[in-house]
Amino acid sequence: MAVTVKCAEEMDLSRIAAAVRVILEAVGENPDREGLRNTPMRVAKMYCELFGGLHENPDVVLGDAVFTVKYDEMVILRDVPFFSMCEHHLLPFTGKAHIAYLPRDKVVGVSKLARVVELFARRPQIQEQLTSQVADLLMEKLDPKGVAVVLEAAHTCMTIRGVKKPGSIMVTSALRGLFKTDHATRAEIMNLLHNHNRQ
Ligand SMILES: [Zn+2]
Repeated sequence: MAVTVKCAEEMDLSRIAAAVRVILEAVGENPDREGLRNTPMRVAKMYCELFGGLHENPDVVLGDAVFTVKYDEMVILRDVPFFSMCEHHLLPFTGKAHIAYLPRDKVVGVSKLARVVELFARRPQIQEQLTSQVADLLMEKLDPKGVAVVLEAAHTCMTIRGVKKPGSIMVTSALRGLFKTDHATRAEIMNLLHNHNRQ
């Protein structure tokens, strides 16, 4: 089944395609040869998908999935796969996100946590910023007692170019509220989120 990509109005497909054509010419390729003929538009449509998060509103992503509930134990979602593009090289970095929060009186539908990661991942990004954007949005919208976000990712810009170190994984964390200030809570959540694969 063909995947149709909805391109945000703000994205100019033909300008992206024209720029890709210029890149192909500049590296010494012939953009008119058969194999490359449709590449500029193909790349443009791909960018619509990969950078679509730029035109999504974080304020509405949790939408009507926030519920008032008397529940004050930790909520943890582990191993959410994500795909993003490093803004320094426009190369992919991919990995897993682990998210935890300690509700005050609001919880959110669990799939929405994954949607928040996706929204911020589908932008030119750096992993540190992606991690804190997810944490900050959850703090703002759920007003929980604490939020912890841990991202583990492999960066193509480290594996296929530059230092060429395949297998290295970058780990970033963003801790907010009690997860930052309370030592025991912080140790507990970091253990749960971050070391579970290695125990
Ligand atoms: Zn990079």
